[in-house]
Amino acid sequence: MASTVRVVLLLLAAGQLATPVAAQGPKPASEATIAAQRAVAGALPADDGTDLAFATRGFIATRTDPLIRNAEGRPVWNLDAYRFVEGVAPTTVNPSLWRHIGLLNRHGLFAVAEGVWQVRGFDVSNMTVIRGSTGWILIDPLTTRETAAAALELVNAQLGARPVSAVIYSHSHADHFGGVRGLIGEADDDAKGLVVIAPAGFMEEAASENVMAGGAMGRRANYQFGSFLTPGAQGQMGSGIGAGIPAGEQTLIEPTDIITRTGEIRTVDGVRLEFQMVPGSEAPAEMNVFITPASTFLSAEIATCSLHNILTPRGAKVRDTRAWAGYLDEALRLYAPRSEAIVSSHCWPRFGRADLTAWLAGQRDNYRHLHDQTVRLMNRGETMDEIAEAVTPPAALADQWSNHGYYGTYRHNTKAIYQFYLGWYDAVPAHLDQLPPTPRATKYVAAMGGAKKVLDLARKAMAAGDYRWSSDLLNQLVFAEPGNKPAREALADSYEQQGYQAESAIWRNQFLSATRDLREGPQARPPAQSADLVSAIPTQLLLDSLSTRYDPAKLGGRKLSIRFTLPERSEVATLEANGAALIGRMGPVTTPVDASIVAPRRALLGLLFLKLPLAQLEAAGIKVEGNRAALQSLLDAIDPLPGGFNIAEP
Ligand SMILES: [Zn+2]
Repeated sequence: MASTVRVVLLLLAAGQLATPVAAQGPKPASEATIAAQRAVAGALPADDGTDLAFATRGFIATRTDPLIRNAEGRPVWNLDAYRFVEGVAPTTVNPSLWRHIGLLNRHGLFAVAEGVWQVRGFDVSNMTVIRGSTGWILIDPLTTRETAAAALELVNAQLGARPVSAVIYSHSHADHFGGVRGLIGEADDDAKGLVVIAPAGFMEEAASENVMAGGAMGRRANYQFGSFLTPGAQGQMGSGIGAGIPAGEQTLIEPTDIITRTGEIRTVDGVRLEFQMVPGSEAPAEMNVFITPASTFLSAEIATCSLHNILTPRGAKVRDTRAWAGYLDEALRLYAPRSEAIVSSHCWPRFGRADLTAWLAGQRDNYRHLHDQTVRLMNRGETMDEIAEAVTPPAALADQWSNHGYYGTYRHNTKAIYQFYLGWYDAVPAHLDQLPPTPRATKYVAAMGGAKKVLDLARKAMAAGDYRWSSDLLNQLVFAEPGNKPAREALADSYEQQGYQAESAIWRNQFLSATRDLREGPQARPPAQSADLVSAIPTQLLLDSLSTRYDPAKLGGRKLSIRFTLPERSEVATLEANGAALIGRMGPVTTPVDASIVAPRRALLGLLFLKLPLAQLEAAGIKVEGNRAALQSLLDAIDPLPGGFNIAEP
């Protein structure tokens, strides 16, 4: 099943974009950036050494070979990628972010409590290891098969080889389940008898969260994670809650046991576990785990070493900040009084009841403050951009390192909360029907007196260190005149300084990715979705996703209907195309259709999603009856694979 579907998904966001322009290397920090970094360094909380002590506590060992490779020998992860992070921050990195990546960079196997360990730094996420009566209970098997296998190899080598008796997925994001097949053998039978526990809604959310918007989200994720940047003082500096995203294979095994309510208890391989449901917070399906005999609470991803995202810049559905803070308050009430350690599925743990209680309360207050102050100003008539400027963390929060915005920021999270309640529109009619970016930019540039004038103004702003304004000006110019080389270069330089100054790793990645695209020409990387994941996506959802690629103009108002039969799933589906929409419907129909297809599901995916030639797929087992020309016209009206588009220029 793997190959065809895999190719389908791997190609979803592929595509060569604009012609590269002459490449330019990274620039040094400007005087203004050096001054800004100095100001940041002077305003940081005192470092009492607690974070470093917690990040290194219980260290047992790490891998000797820093490279984790896939079956073909290609490296998918490098434990040494941030080895250069030592000593004082270079001027091209925000000093707070520099400290942060230095802590995140600790990797290996760490003891947490009696019978509980974590493998950290082998992936963007952590794998938590619990010793059961007969084997390992593993919470969150990392993102990819290769990194998970390497983590388990380290566990078995250091703690003694044992089988995996159970796997728990804390939530529906791929960095918390994608490595699961790396923990068991390759054969399908190896998963038999394995206990797999997940929160309610897990499968649906795991399979579907990124499907409909996958093309756009994949491309935007390139920016957020700095996929085309190299780790370095002038390059990528992690992703705020971990290093980067491993380049391995994501897999999925369906859960065998679903948790639905807070307080639910399971005895798993002899270990008593209690669950707290936290849906709609960091993920649509998510839960925390209290490991009773070890007095250890796993706060999944709702409390970590950074402020998280209410709306991740790669794009997502907005999260419910009020509910998020509420879950943290509940955890504080139900689990903190019984805990000696808190582990998260990213970052390092907290130890000791006093520390972990204060820490959890601080995290709660951070989300609550963001939420309440945004809503307060919103109800006084302030708009998204004004609130983003006005709401800042009070000293009580800013003094706690883990409430800083290494991942999410106050600036973009306040906008997300505004959007959650009111949407994108600020009620100013001038913004209700504004011109789109290119004509607007063209008129603005003309109104300002032409390209040269805009460039001069932008250079003056840059000389004064006002990069927010210079980037705004130059962005107008590049959208008006994408071929204007001095404008592109100046915008790249302006973005670069903003990237250097950012405390948030993902803000840095976005600015530096745009810098790179403007200097070297944009490119997109296909998102890493796997056969396991695609096969779990409900057919109706795939049909709905296909409808979003339908171009009615290509059928010229004709109506067509095609029936699909998928024997291995006993599914029948119909696609009806008209002059406006493509309607996909599951279940048998009695009305006549123009053509019917009987196909293995993977072949159907090849036909509809990858747009492989019909003749080729007929050789692979697709059977077509009826009007082939009608079928071909429908196929021709489906857009090519999405996701390859420009961001920093039109
Ligand atoms: Zn995660």
